[in-house]
Amino acid sequence: MTSDAASARPEPADEVVDLCRDLLRIDTTNTGDNATSAGERAAAEYVAEKLAEVGVDAVIHESAPGRANLVARIPGTDPGRDALLVHGHLDVVPADPDEWSVHPFSGEIRDGYLWGRGAIDMKDFDAMVLTVVRNWQRTGVRPARDIVLAFTADEEAGSDYGAHFLTEHHRGLFDGCSEAIGEVGGFSYTIDESQRLYLIETAEKGIDWLRLHARGRPGHGSMVHDDNAVTVLAEAVARIGRHRFPVVVTDTVRAFLEEVSDLLGVELDPADPETAIAKLGPIANIIGATIRNTANPTRLAAGYKDNVIPGRATATIDCRSLPGQSELLEQQLRELVGPDIVIEYIQRQPALETTFDGDLVDAMSVALRAEDPGARPVPYMLSGGTDAKAFSQLGIRCFGFAPLRLPADLNFSGLFHGIDERVPVDGLQFGVRVLDRFLRSC
Ligand SMILES: [Zn+2]
Repeated sequence: MTSDAASARPEPADEVVDLCRDLLRIDTTNTGDNATSAGERAAAEYVAEKLAEVGVDAVIHESAPGRANLVARIPGTDPGRDALLVHGHLDVVPADPDEWSVHPFSGEIRDGYLWGRGAIDMKDFDAMVLTVVRNWQRTGVRPARDIVLAFTADEEAGSDYGAHFLTEHHRGLFDGCSEAIGEVGGFSYTIDESQRLYLIETAEKGIDWLRLHARGRPGHGSMVHDDNAVTVLAEAVARIGRHRFPVVVTDTVRAFLEEVSDLLGVELDPADPETAIAKLGPIANIIGATIRNTANPTRLAAGYKDNVIPGRATATIDCRSLPGQSELLEQQLRELVGPDIVIEYIQRQPALETTFDGDLVDAMSVALRAEDPGARPVPYMLSGGTDAKAFSQLGIRCFGFAPLRLPADLNFSGLFHGIDERVPVDGLQFGVRVLDRFLRSC
């Protein structure tokens, strides 16, 4: 090995930007339809190649043509330890170039940011993981415990072709995994110059998507008609849409609110947490959704002709339940819609909640504080769902920890699935350093 080879070794700070940029340039748009979703195979092959270059064998598991998932295992030095799963999805939601300031798949660097669909959700973390592993392989670092890497397809459409496929058909790949990290957590929220909260996801709401079916008597639109499916459905949808479910503060949300109100000097009234939440600025919409069950009507369908009263009408409602509340939410909805509406579940995945303690959490906190002395790690509940839903089915304790230091003025939550999604380059480099420390020590 010549000194040329050593000097050619890329710095992780540079490599993470290159890897993230390459991944952003592979359009992995997930439309929710296999016929029009593309790119996951190319992205998985790219990841496999980057791992193979440093001697890590990965296997690509396709759930359907092109729907590629990649899994690899880095052996640890201590066979007595449980394995850690590190997972990231490769797919992204669609982006319309006409709405963006840069092309969403160009991987452009501008104003200190790397721009592109997937920049924070979640090719940034995919690139961090690859960077750390490549650096370790080149420099002979080995983790204490086995690390299982999973790069998945289809997270943006419910994970049936991704994490759920892996856990149902290839569960042996995750043997020995007791804990996992993935999205959406580890990002900073600035309190002031000297203090930043780092929100670590220890809970996520359940997914309860349902379809309402109303039936009535079909008929002619010109006549007196007292049994109209559209009217019945519309009344039920309006009742749900206007309903405010009761506030229930779980342990995770309470811990978060106590910490944040303490830091901000805001009075926290347990009976009325919304007043405190309203003062959180851009993250208020994330946190606000985690104190109650929610139900948002998203689709309506009925009829086939302007002057024909249809015999049936349907609506889709996107409901999200707090931990342990899915059955209660179903009861609440049945009361709201009344006896004439049939409720059909089209997705039902349980909420998750774990405690904010233990060696893994300590390792996260230590790694964050080492790179940002003003770091205040706090647990929080995600209002959405992630691949953790699938992995938790294997008994794995899942955390959202994809470390990222963000500028104070960035509306981070607005970038998820948003226009002009972008990641700060220095935040990405910060993330690599934290992840490296964390994975070495956990
Ligand atoms: Zn995501």
